[in-house]
Amino acid sequence: MHSNPPNPKSPTVRLILGDQLSHYHSWYREVHDDVVYLMAEVQSEASYVKHHVQKVLGFFQAMRTFAHELEQAGHRIIYVTLDDKQNQGSLSAECLRHIALHSASSFEYQEPDEWRLQEELRSMCASLDIPSTCVQSEHFLSDDVLWSTVFKGKKTRIMENFYRFMRKHHGILMNGTDPIGGAWNFDKENRKSIPKTIDIPEPLSFDHDVTELASMLDRMNITTIGTVDASHFPWPKNRVESLTLMDFFNKHLLSNFGRYQDAMTNRSWSLFHSRLSFSLNTKMLHPLEVITSAIDAMNKNPELISIEQVEGYVRQILGWREYMRGIYREYMPQYATLNAFNHTRQLPAWFWTGDTPMHCLSMTIKQSLDHAYAHHIQRLMITGNYALLAGINPDEVDAWYLGIYMDAIEWVEMPNTRGMSQFADGGIVGTKPYVSSASYINSMSDYCKGCAFDPKKKVGEDACPFNSLYWHFYHRNRAMLGGNNRIGMMYAVWDKMQNKEEILAQADAHLNAL
Ligand code: FAD
Ligand code: SF4
Repeated sequence: MHSNPPNPKSPTVRLILGDQLSHYHSWYREVHDDVVYLMAEVQSEASYVKHHVQKVLGFFQAMRTFAHELEQAGHRIIYVTLDDKQNQGSLSAECLRHIALHSASSFEYQEPDEWRLQEELRSMCASLDIPSTCVQSEHFLSDDVLWSTVFKGKKTRIMENFYRFMRKHHGILMNGTDPIGGAWNFDKENRKSIPKTIDIPEPLSFDHDVTELASMLDRMNITTIGTVDASHFPWPKNRVESLTLMDFFNKHLLSNFGRYQDAMTNRSWSLFHSRLSFSLNTKMLHPLEVITSAIDAMNKNPELISIEQVEGYVRQILGWREYMRGIYREYMPQYATLNAFNHTRQLPAWFWTGDTPMHCLSMTIKQSLDHAYAHHIQRLMITGNYALLAGINPDEVDAWYLGIYMDAIEWVEMPNTRGMSQFADGGIVGTKPYVSSASYINSMSDYCKGCAFDPKKKVGEDACPFNSLYWHFYHRNRAMLGGNNRIGMMYAVWDKMQNKEEILAQADAHLNAL
């Protein structure tokens, strides 16, 4: 930060990134004539990975709406569209262009969440001959100081310890020093499968016409994946719609959230999940208001909404979301290179189409291509589980998750994928790999009923591939996992099995055919 007084004729240029759409940021409390806000749709951001078409449209729609709303409030805005002839194609190049065009006296930006952008902006600022300042995004509930306080002197980074600290620190769901409800978590109540008769509300969709935006993407040759009905675009475009989605969740879904958060069904693609991750990650919503609104809903209607449901939800936002950010900040950039199992296999081509006879995978992938959304257990225990069992290169797995989901931004996508789901970090995020055979999938979903494979069989033509792959995974990684006392029991079971060779051959045949 430099301390030259700003020249009133030469404004300060402030950059707003596509995931910094936070009306609550202190920048916007007052209107300043000597501040110009810059927002830009750039080729480098639209193509650093193959994004889902709904993700690119969703970000551009929300950015354009945010710029319009700031303008309405009296702020000076420069908005550069992707097809602007002068567009330089990257954020730093656009900043340099507008700093020069306006003879800016200083440049300011909110700290980017992604390491890639932090580096890009840091090095651009180093080249400037005007002062530059990086300010906080004012979005998160934890920071580096809090993180190092929780884990000071600790070798491991246990999420539960972080979460309890956060509960106490923010006084959320606390009764003095005790957790409300008498327990810190109600995990055991949160593992129910979906009863056949339960009503699952239709997900709330908005209905926007983004056909012009979609044709701009075509004209500009942005390669995307997935499908969209651009004349009925379903994602929220601004804070008001995000609040509507939040209220819908609190009213219709929260009462069953915790109970069924691990369940999967052919009947619904989002079940009782909030679908708020896009609104949260673009910062249209603040995590504290989402948490508070759920607690208020419980307090207003305790008979319908129990602590078990609300605690499960709060843990995701106050715990997991903040924790993943802490992991990313502590371990990047090395984290992006970790591959503890040295997995090298390519992602099967059907990950891009869903065309596989394995019904659970087909359902999860096809819904991801259709909706740019899958809920947590689909990501973790269907696609992620399969990729880990099959030994897919984590770089390929990361790129797939980073592209396909509406909420995929690297700071949250990568620790979830490389860490939680692929155990490629060797146990920084999780204490053991999240893998399962078909029996877990069969108990938590109705997928197996419509599948060509038999979830109970390990060998034979119709045996479910998850079963042999599961044992193949443990067998081939014994040197690394055998000493883990959370896994020891699995090896005792494996050692007693009579037909090990047959099971391994079955898995090898599946892998060789990929
Ligand atoms: P809900 O189930 O309604 O949960 C409420 C909120 O809690 C979410 O909106 C989200 O903000 C937060 N949350 C829940 N679980 C997590 C978690 N594990 N980490 C961080 N926040 C969490 N989440 C992303 O936001 N972006 C990603 O790119 C992403 N990639 C993932 C990749 C893998 C392999 C896995 C296993 C998980 C990933 N997640 C990611 C976490 C989680 O799956 C999504 O946040 C969630 O599915 C979003 O749907 P929802 O809003 O309906 O969530
Ligand atoms: Fe998936 Fe196996 Fe069940 Fe088929 S039988 S749905 S492949 S777990």
